[in-house]
Amino acid sequence: MDSSVYVFVEDLRGEGVERVLDRISAYGVAGVTVGAVHHASRDVTPHGLSRLTVRHDGAHFAPPADLFSGLRLAPVPGYPEAFDGLREACAKRSMKLHGWTVFLRNATIGMEHPDVTVRDCFGDRGSPADLCPAHPDVRDYAVALARAVARLGVDSVVAESLHFSPLEAQRSFVPLGPMDAYLFGLCFCDYCMRRATDLGVQAEVAREECAGIVGRVFDGDQPAQGEVTRAALTAYAGPDVVAYARARSETVTTLVSEVASAVAEEGSKLVFVDSTGAVKGYADGLPTPGLAAHDAWQFGVDLVALGDLVPAFGVLAYARDAARVADDVGAYLRSVGKDREVRAVLRPGHPDSDSADRLLAKARGAKAAGALAVDFYAYGLVPHPVLDRIPAALSEAL
Ligand SMILES: [Zn+2]
Repeated sequence: MDSSVYVFVEDLRGEGVERVLDRISAYGVAGVTVGAVHHASRDVTPHGLSRLTVRHDGAHFAPPADLFSGLRLAPVPGYPEAFDGLREACAKRSMKLHGWTVFLRNATIGMEHPDVTVRDCFGDRGSPADLCPAHPDVRDYAVALARAVARLGVDSVVAESLHFSPLEAQRSFVPLGPMDAYLFGLCFCDYCMRRATDLGVQAEVAREECAGIVGRVFDGDQPAQGEVTRAALTAYAGPDVVAYARARSETVTTLVSEVASAVAEEGSKLVFVDSTGAVKGYADGLPTPGLAAHDAWQFGVDLVALGDLVPAFGVLAYARDAARVADDVGAYLRSVGKDREVRAVLRPGHPDSDSADRLLAKARGAKAAGALAVDFYAYGLVPHPVLDRIPAALSEAL
C-alpha cells in the first residue's frame, strides 16, 4: 500500500530537506506530497522554524517561459529554489515525490485580475481568492501550471481546488442556511452563464431565482433549514437553479480532462482531490451526513465522468469515525470505478484522531474499503508525538 505525508515548502526551508525526509522515511512512509503551489494562510506550526507561519500565495519553482509567455495569468512567485535537489534527496531514500498544486484558489491573482474571479447572483465579485474555472484565461493558466509542476519530475501532480468552491465569508451575522449559502456561492459570470445556456439551461432565470431567495433572507426572511440535496434544492429554488448548478460539471470535467492530459504528456499523472470532504469535516472531524462522493456535484465535480479521465483520486477523509472513512472511500470507488486508484487523506491528530488506535482504525477502514494509499496531512501542522502515530498506523494496517 502506497503512502505519503503532505509537506509544506516552509517545513523544508525551516527544518531542512534532509532532516524532514529522514524523519518521514523513518515512519515507513513511501513518499512526500510537497506543496508546489499553495495559497496564503497563517498557520500554527508546532515544530517549525517559526511557530506561527505566514504563507503567501506562491508557486515554488521558476515557471518555464515557454508555458506562460503567451498567457495573461502567471504564477505568483514563491520560493523558486524549493524543489532544487528534492527529487534526488527523495530518490536516495527510495521515496516518491508528489507535487501538491492548489489551482484556483489564489487571491493575489484574483485581486490583480478581478474579472477572472467568480461573480455571484447579485453581480458582485466578492471572492477574490476564487478563480472561476469557466474563464478561458483561468483554464489556460491551470493547464500551464499543471505542466510546470509535472516538469519538476514529480511522480504525480496532486490537484487541489480544480473545481468550483463554496462561499467562504469571513463574517456573516445573517443566519444563512446551507441552501442559501450554496445559492449565494454559485458563479454567474459571463462564461458560466454562456456555458449553461449552451447546455439548454435558463441561466438568467436561475440567477434571478437565486438573487430573489438570498435577497429575501437578507431582508429578514427565515433561512431554509436542512442540507443541500438535489431534491431539497429543487423544492426550494426550482428546476432552473438545479439545472444551472448541474451544468457546472461540464465546465469542471472538461478542465480536469485538459489538465490530466497535459500532466500525462509531461510524463506524470494527475491525482484529483476534491474539497467536498474538507467542506464537510474540516472544522471538527464531524462531517455532515451526506458522503463526499455523493455531494461533490455541488462544486461541479462529476466523479463518474472524471473516473474515465483521471487515473487517481484523493479523498479528504476528515472524520473521527473509522466507519465514516471507510464509507467515504467506498462511495468514491463506486463513483470513479473500482479500477481507479483512490487515496485516503487522513489527519493523524486534532481534530480527527485523538489516539494512535483511532488513526490505525481509520487506515484499516480505508484499506478495507479499497483505498490503495493513505496520505497524512500535514507534516508541519501537527506535533511530533502525533506524527509518531504514523508508523503503527502503516505497519499494522497494511
Ligand atoms: Zn464563472
